[in-house]
Amino acid sequence: MPPNTCAQCGGNLERQTITHRQQWGEELYEFENVPALVCRQCGEVWLEAEVGQLIDKIIQQHPQPKKYHQVPVFSLAEFTL
Ligand SMILES: [Zn+2]
Repeated sequence: MPPNTCAQCGGNLERQTITHRQQWGEELYEFENVPALVCRQCGEVWLEAEVGQLIDKIIQQHPQPKKYHQVPVFSLAEFTL
């Protein structure tokens, strides 16, 4: 049974389809069309256990991705506020 309230703030969770980014070591993976529970109050995203397991499985099996896009990475340590 998925939770229907946010463990962070107690707000209502709403079922949404999101784009989820998962850091795995040095790599960043992006998943589209991920069913998730999103808090209406604080925006916290909750993935159900099965969805998280599927994402882990996909990363480990490393099938050919649907597409690639490059992500520019900046270190804030190199800039002054
Ligand atoms: Zn919340």
